[in-house]
Amino acid sequence: MNKDSNVAKNNLHPCYSREAHHKYFRLHLPVAPECNLGCNFCEKRIGGMTYHAYRPAVTKEILNPLQALDRVAFYSSNTDKLKVVGIAGPGEPLANEQTFDTLELIGKLYPDMILCLSTNGILLSQCINRLKGLGIHSISVTINSLNINTLVSLYQYVYTEEQEKLVAHESACYIGKKQLEALECLAVENIQYKVNTILIPGINDSQVEEIAKTIAYYKAKLHNIIPFIPLGTLSNIDAPSCDELIQARNASEKYIKQFRLCKQCSSDAFDIPGRIKKAYC
Ligand code: SF4
Ligand code: SF4
Repeated sequence: MNKDSNVAKNNLHPCYSREAHHKYFRLHLPVAPECNLGCNFCEKRIGGMTYHAYRPAVTKEILNPLQALDRVAFYSSNTDKLKVVGIAGPGEPLANEQTFDTLELIGKLYPDMILCLSTNGILLSQCINRLKGLGIHSISVTINSLNINTLVSLYQYVYTEEQEKLVAHESACYIGKKQLEALECLAVENIQYKVNTILIPGINDSQVEEIAKTIAYYKAKLHNIIPFIPLGTLSNIDAPSCDELIQARNASEKYIKQFRLCKQCSSDAFDIPGRIKKAYC
């Protein structure tokens, strides 16, 4: 993708442009149920009502790639404001072959659509050439810590590229290594990306500046610090206050531009993010 077309597309992407955030739709396609990581703050939900239903890792249903394509066709025939199609779970997009099939179908039939993806980064360096070939425009990588002890407290296990299950210290070392590798490879390949960091009081709130410095070094475009939602085995920890969130964003802003509008969307969201009623900090 050349630089000019990338910039033009950024102006239409609700999560890279403040203006677009209030103007254009993005559609999340829930085609990726499997995950390779055991986050202690995750409660994946497929179907049914749940506490805090509009949030990541939640979807009413799983679609196969053809159903996903139908969904794009349906929405794009109803509005010319759908600009971005993203895959954001409910599991890890890169751990599901359906993600690649879906991107391929949409890229072929909707060549102007902005293709987007979120990932925990574990498989990113392995998949980057495939994603480039499919015309990916932007990627969000979640980095919650660069510290091994903190990673031990955040993640129960990880499945390696070779499908070996690692736990505890070994798992944390692998996650840290693969996530840094993901940042390096995005920088080298010059792919536009932002980093999501979940701010978890008492766990990683003192590490925000270190993360910000590191991702700025690896040429991330934005830092998206989002508030922890008390879930999973970390559900006894309170969400950060608005002041704590603002402080973390201000600290990070010394190094990298902030995205302060995130709505922590569900895996099947279809809306103009700026229209969702959520408190801003
Ligand atoms: Fe849940 Fe995402 Fe973590 Fe997988 S990577 S466990 S889907 S939060
Ligand atoms: Fe944009 Fe945040 Fe929603 Fe992702 S979760 S689509 S970054 S508003």
